[in-house]
Amino acid sequence: MTKKRDYYEILGVSRNASEEEIKKSYRRQAMKHHPDRNASDKDAEENFKQIKQAYEVLSDSRKRAAYDQFGHAGVDGGAGGFGGGTEGMNFGDIFGDIFGDIFGGGRRGGAQRGGDLHFTLDISLEDAVFGKTAEIAIPTLVVCADCHGSGARAGSSPVTCTHCGGQGQIRMQQGYFSVQQTCPACYGKGRVIQHPCGACHGHGRKKQNKKLSVKIPKGVDTGDRIRLSGEGEAGEGGAPTGDLYIQMVVQAHPLFERDGKNLYCEVPISFVTGALGGELEVPALSGRVKLKIPPETQTGKVFRVKGMGVPSVRGGDQGDLMCKVQIETPVNLTAKQKDLLQQFAKTMSSNNKHTPRSSSWFDKVKKFFEDMKL
Ligand SMILES: [Zn+2]
Ligand SMILES: [Zn+2]
Repeated sequence: MTKKRDYYEILGVSRNASEEEIKKSYRRQAMKHHPDRNASDKDAEENFKQIKQAYEVLSDSRKRAAYDQFGHAGVDGGAGGFGGGTEGMNFGDIFGDIFGDIFGGGRRGGAQRGGDLHFTLDISLEDAVFGKTAEIAIPTLVVCADCHGSGARAGSSPVTCTHCGGQGQIRMQQGYFSVQQTCPACYGKGRVIQHPCGACHGHGRKKQNKKLSVKIPKGVDTGDRIRLSGEGEAGEGGAPTGDLYIQMVVQAHPLFERDGKNLYCEVPISFVTGALGGELEVPALSGRVKLKIPPETQTGKVFRVKGMGVPSVRGGDQGDLMCKVQIETPVNLTAKQKDLLQQFAKTMSSNNKHTPRSSSWFDKVKKFFEDMKL
């Protein structure tokens, strides 16, 4: 067995620290070193045990005095000691103690924090871009108003479990072994309710559709999560409430496609506008914007409208609106229009001067056939 560390050193307090200082430091250390929070640290459990042990001794004036005088020998069990064994202890209980203290509940055992709730919220692209306050109703468990969470009928209160003496655990001797079990009478709560509250049947909590306003910040995207601390399920027996997590799902939009901060849209233009250039109005989420089409614009060309995309939820520049033009072949032409187009076609010289894409395409086709020896 390794040499035992000094209890004052473990808790990080001086030898003449007050009870209050010791208690404070213990809470801080215990939270920091709790194995649930340090799953990757294999020493966490040992550290945590030492902290608990140190506190058991230093928080008890008799044990502390013995420790001050005799060191570990004064409190290590055996003859004359006070027994500081922590074998078989339950981390959950200890954590419950700490939180119970901090949250003013002071309940022992079984006081389990309420469950976290996970909720998915469908929002429109507009709401994702501009932000909004959404009213939601979530099915949850709330503290019973009739019994204020105690689970006991008005005028009565839960009583200490006589089976386990309020410990929530019972110790059974089996030959040389002592086995610790969750008390079957109170299920580890340490208290029993003799006259259950009629409204919640003794659970202290009730199902309810809770209405909440959720502020959705500008710029959220699918997969972003908002955490509302303390808006989850009520804890049992007055234990702290869980948290509510809201996951965003941004719905598809008929006009815009989103990629991160940028919005994409397709803009059909006539081949006349493509050839001669022009100005047109395109939609943006905040209204209309003018888009200048330069002459000789080919289909598929993308124009960027700066700052008309999505604001960044984490700060930074607003994204852009990307407009991809599609040249549209005219349909339902009149005889006169067809005639004009034919006249127009005749004016197109055969040297491909007016058709840059065709020119390069025909060049490639020619080379392809040559290479194939066709
Ligand atoms: Zn109730
Ligand atoms: Zn019990």
